[in-house]
Amino acid sequence: MTTLRPELSIDRLIAELQMLGAISEADPPVVTRVVFGEADLRARAFVKRLCVDAGLSVSEDPIGNTFARWQGADPDLAPIGTGSHIDAIPNAGLYDGCVGVLGGLEAIRTLRRLGFTPRRSIELVIFTSEEPTRFGIGCLGSRMLASALSPGQARLLRDKQGRGLDELRTATGFTGALESVAHPPGRFEQFVELHIEQGPELERKGVDIGLVTHIAAPASLRIVVEGEGGHAGATLMPGRKDALAAAAELVLALERAAKSTGAIDTVATVGICDVFPGAVNSIPSRVQLEADVRDIDGPRRDSVIRTIQSVCYEVQERRGVTVASEIVNADPPATCDVAILTALEESANAAGKTHQKMVSRAYHDSLFVARIAPVAMLFISCRGGVSHRPDEYASPESIGAGVHVLARTLAQLAS
Ligand SMILES: [Zn+2]
Repeated sequence: MTTLRPELSIDRLIAELQMLGAISEADPPVVTRVVFGEADLRARAFVKRLCVDAGLSVSEDPIGNTFARWQGADPDLAPIGTGSHIDAIPNAGLYDGCVGVLGGLEAIRTLRRLGFTPRRSIELVIFTSEEPTRFGIGCLGSRMLASALSPGQARLLRDKQGRGLDELRTATGFTGALESVAHPPGRFEQFVELHIEQGPELERKGVDIGLVTHIAAPASLRIVVEGEGGHAGATLMPGRKDALAAAAELVLALERAAKSTGAIDTVATVGICDVFPGAVNSIPSRVQLEADVRDIDGPRRDSVIRTIQSVCYEVQERRGVTVASEIVNADPPATCDVAILTALEESANAAGKTHQKMVSRAYHDSLFVARIAPVAMLFISCRGGVSHRPDEYASPESIGAGVHVLARTLAQLAS
């Protein structure tokens, strides 16, 4: 495996990333590929063709998760999985997800060129709709694969035009019962995902590879405050039930609750505040807040949510408004597998790449795969930590480092 480096075809990989990026609903360099849209389907066809050309056998499940398999010497053993996603939010860039898919493919091609024979099969996975753009829920494919979203719940999903998930997937050729998407633990022996960091840490420290030890998970909370509207001049201050003033207390209480855990990994954000009626001379009668609370420690995150729920009750009593809170979604965080992390670390050392352990603060498909298989992720740097923008950029050097380490790791895990 010491000769791996010259075997990597990074120029071809970069060219393929650019070709994939050009398949977009928007003009280059803007990448927009919404699940089951025309660009998504063309991008899938492009990647499937590359997989077939590489000698992999390709299959799809009813939600469009795509599996490209390199059969191992012992095909009855559970495979080693790798992969990511190729859908892209509106106005995105070339690298998010795609580096994990095409980089995973290049890792497999490299091992094949070297004449390596895996004992376990190696499977490249392209997960459907990691981005929540169309249906408002992220990691649709990996979520269903791991039974974190039931077929019944999936059938209720609608896009903004009111078209159902079932209607859209079947219209685009993904048929069959949604019940067959889920797999029990053991579907993969181990799973490892290569991804750009989407943050500035690796670049700032000049480190090649991030070994992800934990994947933080968000809980989202919707809070509706109902007060009493009225004329901003004619209603005197005593006795007002201003919904926005009450909501402001909740925003600050959430910030305090996140800080009070004392853990750097606890973060909380109120990103949406809808004020009704929204007129300068009218007392707000109704406010809807949406908050995102994340941590790598599930119980600690949930304690922040319990704190804010008790503040909701306290504010309601004191201000005479009604406050209703609802947990919209709360996925458990994931801890990465020590054995895979060790393999990644050894591979990085063998490849002469510097590395550090880190936390993934964004979530990825691996968060859900973790429910049915041991997972780990490796990060490479991206310029300025910028992601989800057209100027997202990862250098050929850092992509090459990631693919090199991934190839060695896949070889080790599949042996
Ligand atoms: Zn991604």
